[in-house]
Amino acid sequence: MARDLLTELNAALPELRGKLKSGAMLADLTWFRVGGPAEILYSPADEADLAYVVKTISQDIPVTVIGLGSNLLVRDGGIEGVVIRLGKGFGDIEVEDGQRLRAGAAVPDVKVARAAADAGISGLSFYRGIPGCVGGALRMNGGAHGKETKEVVIEVRAVDRQGNIHVLLVDELHYSYRHCGAPEDFIFTEALFQGEPGEPEKILAEMDDVAAYRESAQPIKSRTGGSTFKNPPGKKAWQLIDAAGCRGFRIGDAHVSEMHCNFLINDANATGAEIEELGETVRARVKETSGVDLEWEIKRLGVPAKANS
Ligand SMILES: Cc1cc2nc3c(=O)[nH]c(=O)nc-3n(C[C@H](O)[C@H](O)[C@H](O)COP(=O)(O)OP(=O)(O)OC[C@H]3O[C@@H](n4cnc5c(N)ncnc54)[C@H](O)[C@@H]3O)c2cc1C
Repeated sequence: MARDLLTELNAALPELRGKLKSGAMLADLTWFRVGGPAEILYSPADEADLAYVVKTISQDIPVTVIGLGSNLLVRDGGIEGVVIRLGKGFGDIEVEDGQRLRAGAAVPDVKVARAAADAGISGLSFYRGIPGCVGGALRMNGGAHGKETKEVVIEVRAVDRQGNIHVLLVDELHYSYRHCGAPEDFIFTEALFQGEPGEPEKILAEMDDVAAYRESAQPIKSRTGGSTFKNPPGKKAWQLIDAAGCRGFRIGDAHVSEMHCNFLINDANATGAEIEELGETVRARVKETSGVDLEWEIKRLGVPAKANS
């Protein structure tokens, strides 16, 4: 990372309204608390600023968008190019007629659940338990307690790498289990959710149940990335991991959760490399014992640390 990308970008972007920062540590922005620096971390002021930046900067510069980092394993060498993290300019949430709710991509999922409950909109309480934001939920088709994002979102806005703004209906996103078929370069900026009429007290009680279940069944207070692997068709990843004898298995400061063995935990000072090696070792053992190839649900981003750093 010898080039001075910050100077280059500042010169290329006279109309920039958002913020650019060089070398921000991504460990501070991920649930695992690992990850090297972003060459540039960009916080757009709003959708127009975002479109201006991605359109104007050289198309050779890699662009990566992150949400609240609850599904990310960022490698120790960090991420080259521009890492985009949406903030305040994407934080609005509004109730619309017909049990609809419009939310910016930076709104945490839990706020979507709360706003829906306050407005008597049912069907969104599962978001109480997903610790990401709307952008991450749209990209991951986040789901829980028998519901997925694809069932409750009806329309989204997105900016592509050339700065074009798209408004897409849910069918155009080609959703499947923890997967969104929208082009990889699409950065979601907003979603419109559709719920059903409901009573606030009942919805709030449902949300309490979701929270209580989480507390009892998942290590939610730990440094983790949530479910590490997707459930293979007809099977549970945690059962395969358990059967492979990996519950509690450890590499360095990282271990497989005793409580829920599809969760990996950073005890305190694990590196990204240790967590990734732990995950790969679990995959290999599951393959050996059950013949199943587990697929990472967690998104692994960035480059390994340089050998001498
Ligand atoms: C304790 C715990 C419990 C969890 N429980 C669940 C659960 O029950 N169900 C579930 O589905 N997940 C769960 N997760 C995983 C995670 O919370 C979800 O995948 C969540 O939707 C990720 O959102 P995020 O904002 O943190 O995204 P990030 O982790 O930051 O990013 C995830 C992906 O989304 C992309 N992305 C983020 N923002 C945007 C955007 N604006 N436009 C385009 N792409 C974007 C990123 O590039 C990346 O590929 C859990 C995680 C933890 C730590």
